Amino acid sequence: VAKSFSIRLRLTLATPNLLAVPPISTRALILHGFPYGETSRILRLLTFDHGLRSVVAKGAQRPRNRFGGILEPFTEGEAHFNLREGRELFTLTEFSLLRSRQAIGRDLGGFAAASLIAELALRFATEEPFPQLYAAAATAFDQLCDSTRSAAPSGLRSIWIIIGLLGYLPEMRACVRCGRDLPPDESSRFDAEAGGAACRGCRPTGRLISGTFRSEILDMASGNPNAPLWNPSNRTIHSALLQTFLATHLTSDRPLRSLPLFMEQLKS
Ligand SMILES: [Zn+2]
Repeated sequence: VAKSFSIRLRLTLATPNLLAVPPISTRALILHGFPYGETSRILRLLTFDHGLRSVVAKGAQRPRNRFGGILEPFTEGEAHFNLREGRELFTLTEFSLLRSRQAIGRDLGGFAAASLIAELALRFATEEPFPQLYAAAATAFDQLCDSTRSAAPSGLRSIWIIIGLLGYLPEMRACVRCGRDLPPDESSRFDAEAGGAACRGCRPTGRLISGTFRSEILDMASGNPNAPLWNPSNRTIHSALLQTFLATHLTSDRPLRSLPLFMEQLKS
């Protein structure tokens, strides 16, 4: 107690105007962390109340520090920092652990899925609060943590939920070109550029996708936890479609670093 008090006191003395802004407290998911200077760590947080924010945890790289080595990706906690307008980096004064989720690292498929989810949130979240995205990411991390079998299949479902929340759901009920409804027993093709399924008349060549496959995508993106898990025999086409769709609509300028690992895990 004495040690943490003395650190806080020194911090306050060094920056007296901190006193003017009361610290805020919000639930936060650590999406990314990297060393800063000799002893500190910068964290990219998806917060419940203030969207995506960057904080510096001073002293967090020291062997014995007041954060206690818990500032790792996928961890959730109550973050305290001074939110001063016009700033881009805030000083983290306290981070109380809610859930560590370090078990995600035990399964490579789960780790790859969680990394991809974190990367999507880093790429698309803003400083505006987005409670649904926060909840979806936290739920996904929980499921990947608790998964006893290979976590990649449930990871795929979470990734589609996130893509849906970001507003990029592919059209799977009707042909994206002619608008005709696609009955469940009719196979179609996929037109990534146009953003969804295309009937065989409109797109004469390419791999066929079944109505079952189209509904698997819709079921996953609906976020319904009771939706059946997708058929593993479709894993090759699932990974191909996700990759093409992401590359065309979300990440054409800059590929996602964790995507190749997730693709590999999904197909294995
Ligand atoms: Zn058509």
